[in-house]
Amino acid sequence: MTVWNLGSINADMVYALPHLPSAGETLAASGLQRFLGGKGANMSVAAARAGSRVSHIGAVGSDGLWARDRLTEYGVDTRHIAEVDVPTGHAIIAVDAQGENLIVLFQGANHVISNDQLGQALSSAVSGDLLVMQNETNAQIEAAKLGCEMGLTVCYAAAPFQAEAVQAVLPYLDFLILNEVEAEQLQDATGLAPSDLQVEHVIVTFGSKGARYYQRGHKPQAFRAHKVNAVDTTGAGDTFTGYVLAGMDRGMPMEQAIAQANRAAALMVTRHGTADVIPDLKEVREAQLD
Ligand code: ATP
Repeated sequence: MTVWNLGSINADMVYALPHLPSAGETLAASGLQRFLGGKGANMSVAAARAGSRVSHIGAVGSDGLWARDRLTEYGVDTRHIAEVDVPTGHAIIAVDAQGENLIVLFQGANHVISNDQLGQALSSAVSGDLLVMQNETNAQIEAAKLGCEMGLTVCYAAAPFQAEAVQAVLPYLDFLILNEVEAEQLQDATGLAPSDLQVEHVIVTFGSKGARYYQRGHKPQAFRAHKVNAVDTTGAGDTFTGYVLAGMDRGMPMEQAIAQANRAAALMVTRHGTADVIPDLKEVREAQLD
């Protein structure tokens, strides 16, 4: 089986500044680090590290070929990542001496994925494969419809949250994952609690409080988080999702996939960084967690 990921690819450019700039101010940064980011890329890396065959569908500009290469190095099939005439999506992240940050996001190439590209990629998919999307690319509805018609297991991570975006794909979903705040926002927009959604599998994550799994027609199941010394929670949700997808892809019962995802995400929050530090299956299995 393959996990097909219609997902964003970003360059996270992190600038170290003495303080966050105010309007009109010019400020010299004392350092710059560039990381592979974007929810899509993070999920592809997580699922690949968890042992799945992952094919990423996305786009980068000529300035982002390093990001495509990095994904390849992490074991992701990048043949369906197009090179387009638009700059690669990026985040300009200014961080001051106290760790306070300011972020400018540019969607760039993540929003010029063509229907032809999508159709061509998914023409190699077979019934039973997984298709995942997040809300950082265009073509989500087309992909969800196509995936549903083709008998793929259609999965959606509702982040960054937009009620209209989730509602548009909801009828096609087999699996929806959201964090606590996103679940509340969806309930405010639709009046539907996670247990009321007409989706076979729904997971709500609660950060250090763990996660809850709702299977249609069954009682919700709670999973507590592992107790760890969290230093950076960035990418915890993407790591969790990637590991759940890999578990589903490999035919694990959902409870087992969630337990493994919980371990991977707990390990992830003990590390600084995003895609580059997502733990692999061996580390996840061998980690000493409570
Ligand atoms: P993010 O946007 O920061 O990547 P998220 O908001 O999508 O994350 P969370 O609900 O914060 O997702 O976390 C996802 C999962 O990561 C949790 O269900 C849990 O398994 C794990 N996790 C997050 N924070 C912690 C923590 N402090 N300690 C242990 N596990 C954690």
